[in-house]
Amino acid sequence: MFTKLLIANRGEIACRVIRTANRMGIRTVAVYSDADAHALHVEMADEAVHIGPPPAAESYLNAEKIIEAAKASGAEAIHPGYGFLSENPDFVEAVEGAGLFFVGPSAKSIRAMGLKDAAKRLMEKAGVPVVPGYHGEAQEVVVLAAKANEIGFPVLIKARAGGGGKGMRFVQSPGDFKDALAAAKREARSSFGDDRVLVEKFISSPRHIEVQVFGDDHGNVVHLFERDCSLQRRHQKVIEEAPAPGMTDEVRAAMTGAAVKAAKAIDYSGAGTIEFIADGSGPLRPDGFWFMEMNTRLQVEHPVTEAITGLDLVEWQLRVASGEKLPLSQDDIAMSGHAFEARLYAEDPAHGFLPQTGTLHHFSFSKSARNDAGIRSGDAVTPYYDPMIAKIITHAGTREEALAALGDALAQTHVAGTITNAAFLLALSRHGGFAAGDVDTGLIDRNIAVLTAAEPPAEHVIAMAALIALGIDPNAPMTGWRLWEDAGHTVRFLCSGEMIERRLCLHGDGSLTLEGGRDGVTMRDVARGGDRMSARAGAFGTRVEARVAEYADPAGRAVSVLADGRAHAFVLPDPLLAAAHHADEGDAILAPMTGVVRSVNVSAGAAVSKGDKLIVLEAMKMETSLAAPRGGMVSEVLCAEGDAVEGGSVLLRFEEAAE
Ligand code: ADP
Ligand code: ADP
Ligand code: MG
Repeated sequence: MFTKLLIANRGEIACRVIRTANRMGIRTVAVYSDADAHALHVEMADEAVHIGPPPAAESYLNAEKIIEAAKASGAEAIHPGYGFLSENPDFVEAVEGAGLFFVGPSAKSIRAMGLKDAAKRLMEKAGVPVVPGYHGEAQEVVVLAAKANEIGFPVLIKARAGGGGKGMRFVQSPGDFKDALAAAKREARSSFGDDRVLVEKFISSPRHIEVQVFGDDHGNVVHLFERDCSLQRRHQKVIEEAPAPGMTDEVRAAMTGAAVKAAKAIDYSGAGTIEFIADGSGPLRPDGFWFMEMNTRLQVEHPVTEAITGLDLVEWQLRVASGEKLPLSQDDIAMSGHAFEARLYAEDPAHGFLPQTGTLHHFSFSKSARNDAGIRSGDAVTPYYDPMIAKIITHAGTREEALAALGDALAQTHVAGTITNAAFLLALSRHGGFAAGDVDTGLIDRNIAVLTAAEPPAEHVIAMAALIALGIDPNAPMTGWRLWEDAGHTVRFLCSGEMIERRLCLHGDGSLTLEGGRDGVTMRDVARGGDRMSARAGAFGTRVEARVAEYADPAGRAVSVLADGRAHAFVLPDPLLAAAHHADEGDAILAPMTGVVRSVNVSAGAAVSKGDKLIVLEAMKMETSLAAPRGGMVSEVLCAEGDAVEGGSVLLRFEEAAE
């Protein structure tokens, strides 16, 4: 086994790898960009090497710098995590050329699976079912259109070099084929520098089911069962689970058998995932799934497999990379119970899932779930990298229990300082169709309005924020409140962009009332212990609970109250801070992350309304619409289609609001 390992990644996956290395007695070397100088992965590692400025292209994708760091620190192996250099065969060759071990498959295996058309041809030859379609060399419009007719509409056109759902077009009928092909090719050329496409049958009610495989350098390949990743938004996974709902022994045998065959066909070594698309229009069938692609690395969602098998996949990766045999044979690998993983992101579901940045002033989790995080309280989500904050993983004897545990864990996840998708994940975890195991890749889109509905804070939540904001000790109503009694106090908060005003009155009997909202509320037995607050509220004295955190927002002092799985931020505006903040953000659109401007839908002088989508930015494999933060007149447009922009740079300015 190696004695020292360099982790060529950041965030949660770097922390995840370090934890296993620590347990195995392997020393660790982290690498970091300027943006990550104080990051958790740097603190956790035994040593850390600075590799460059924030943009990934100049740091986490800088193969030369990373290999140099490994050699200088005496590391013998490099773990690439996921993303960044993990599926780059040239990097693997460079690592091996430098006399180091790469924790992953050979460059040859990665290349074999790198292009979708070649991978599908290879899989067909190996006897693995692939989606019916055309994966050949011909690219002429007439040929492809004829193939589409043969396959039968609807079809999907996919870029062979594609990833993250880019360069993919759904075509309903023959009349739309030509335009869709041109669009797919255009997108493929600009995104991947390769406009070759394949055409395949569109599977209706598709389910994404993938099989975890593991190979070693001694010719052994095993599978670690399947994961269902059908809950997707824009082809990105949101909640994953294992095993797949509705899976039968017969279908599992067929699917895992095909996955092992696929891995063997490319002499696979290390952790890999074979992604299948399955027909979800009825029960799963042994002849109702098809190879989609292989991911030649550790997957984001590997913890659900760890939960049901009790194995540590990173440990397996390290053992295999150092030349050991797989720790277990197929017969010794068993699964038990059910597991879920939810991806907690800094993004705003109510506004098109716009990626968010900011300091996580407060960050706490349920202790009863596994939390894989790369961030701690006080750390910032920067615009430079994937805005994933953490993964929340639950495991229980049955699917129902594990899903309930996921809901409980999400309801207790408290992030203050930035907007997250926690409430969206919670709503999804409580969705009836999902609970019934009735999943397909369209589930989220079909229910998007319900899942992303914003909910204003309840009056008792506002009352809790008011108590904290006014510095009133809720635990001492009889003595402590006397000072405040009868006076009544007005509080003004900024909450989700709106000013709210309430009057808080404390009474001699230890109760309080909050007035000024649509309904007033009376509360008694208010108590606070650490970050928890509780009370009895309303005419029936219903018990209410919340978690609270105080912090300094850019616009003023702030209180965050987490209640019913929603974190509400109440900012006490400081006129000076607010003015500065407003000038920075309210009057401009900033790039939320480094990326490329795909379109600009407005020009200077135009009048826009709040929420109008003005700019489309492509970053992190996704297109993000940037909306007007308020209504008004556009004074300047500072970017154009095709521009590469840095995260945080000003893209558009508004004329000052007339106040
Ligand atoms: P999965 O999410 O199933 O593991 P994906 O192909 O969607 O597979 O992407 C893998 C992960 O790699 C993403 O979730 C993301 O965190 C990371 N990733 C992808 N592209 C980038 C990138 N350009 N920079 C940083 N991380 C990336
Ligand atoms: P990428 O490399 O962009 O991840 P994939 O081929 O893995 O591309 O497909 C991404 C997603 O698109 C899948 O998870 C699935 O939701 C959907 N998809 C892919 N192929 C099909 C198909 N033939 N029919 C229906 N949906 C599909
Ligand atoms: Mg995929």
